[in-house]
Amino acid sequence: MSRKTKLIVTLGPATEKAETIGELIDGGVNVFRLNMSHAKHEWAALMTKHVRQESSKRGLHIAVLFDLTGPSIRTGDVVKNYELKEGDKVEFRKEGTEPTIPISTTVNYPGMMQDVSEGNILVVDNGALLMHIDRTADDRIICDVRTPGTMGSRRHINLPGVRLNLPALTEKDHKDLALAVECGADYIAGSFVRDAAHVRELREAMEALEGEAQIVAKIEDQEAVRNIDAIIQSADVIMIARGDLGIEVDFEDLPILQRRIVKRCHELGTRVIVATQLLESMITNPTPTRAEVTDVMNAAYEEADALMLSGETSVGRYPLRCVDALVRISARIERSGGHGFGAAVILRDERQKTARAAVTLADSLPDARLVVLTRRGVLANHIALMRPRTGSFFAFTPKDGVCRKLSLTRGIRAFQMGFSSNIEETIGRATEQLRAENLVRPGTPIVIVSDILSDHFAANSILLHHA
Ligand code: PEP
Repeated sequence: MSRKTKLIVTLGPATEKAETIGELIDGGVNVFRLNMSHAKHEWAALMTKHVRQESSKRGLHIAVLFDLTGPSIRTGDVVKNYELKEGDKVEFRKEGTEPTIPISTTVNYPGMMQDVSEGNILVVDNGALLMHIDRTADDRIICDVRTPGTMGSRRHINLPGVRLNLPALTEKDHKDLALAVECGADYIAGSFVRDAAHVRELREAMEALEGEAQIVAKIEDQEAVRNIDAIIQSADVIMIARGDLGIEVDFEDLPILQRRIVKRCHELGTRVIVATQLLESMITNPTPTRAEVTDVMNAAYEEADALMLSGETSVGRYPLRCVDALVRISARIERSGGHGFGAAVILRDERQKTARAAVTLADSLPDARLVVLTRRGVLANHIALMRPRTGSFFAFTPKDGVCRKLSLTRGIRAFQMGFSSNIEETIGRATEQLRAENLVRPGTPIVIVSDILSDHFAANSILLHHA
């Protein structure tokens, strides 16, 4: 395998044609994201269908991730955009109340007035406008504008450092979740997850609908950072959502937080995505800036499982070039080594200790292949988190859904294959498949890890076999 870092691409008007989706798969995309803040239900269902058809044409396992909007705070409708100057006073008030000063808008979250305090900072439109909260009352707050800019309708509001009592899921999220389950989503992401209870609530709501998706927790504010260990332990995957997180924390803290979260995910055994603005300038330009190349390089060097593109591929002019840039940069840095957080994995059970032993063995043998036989993908993910050096790491599993769920896992290629009750036969089949794809030559050492040697004999085992 020439590239370990997996790629997630957000679909949108720039990439919605089945043919384009096929080209993106050919370019190396592993997971497609549907951003439910913008996607209509009919469109999201159609995109899922396109992804399934295009991947099955190619015999590849490509996943679909539904990203729920979450409880974001927004300004109300304004008759005409306000052009704000430094020092202007702006009122944010509960819906159903009357303005008391000329520049005034409602907000969709009535609890905001109780959550904030005088002296807090309020940010509108993803950092475009910064305000200082001067006065609070039960039904409104008055802010002082610190950076000039335009304030329009339904603009996103951030309150850095403020502990918000927003619910985990809105009514819209519940509807979108039902659609995601109906479409057979492989991953469902919760936005503005602030503690482990929010992850559990999303998982329980998904399971109540009999969904089988894995849960991605998006880390977007300081509260989530404070509760990071519990969130990492309750989610299947962590997404470092740098768009919102970059507004919620001082920007100089963002790279440090990214590195700490990536490391903690390794230690605690949860996969991790680095998202947002990796190639922002490529929304309009055909090549990345030097700084973007370095940022992508850094995330791949930290050995995140996956990198995610948003506007670059949903509305950008060069979606295929963006994917090509991620492929080139990550493949290049992988050749010169990674950060090595895999050594920090905390081994909590015998299965993880077996995984560590198998990785040590495979890495000590020149040109070895590492093969995991896995029913649910759990053992495969444990091994991947140890970041084996071998570029030839394969999972065999009976279910295509498990193959798709491994498409986000760093360094692994999954094959769907039924298991025999006879382990020799299962290993023979797996080896045959690797041979057929030219992934082994006669005599290549293959380290096989499994906790399912046979239906009647459960044992964690490592076998060293030669093709
Ligand atoms: C982000 O904020 O980085 C992010 C991925 O979330 P969204 O694009 O949904 O705001």
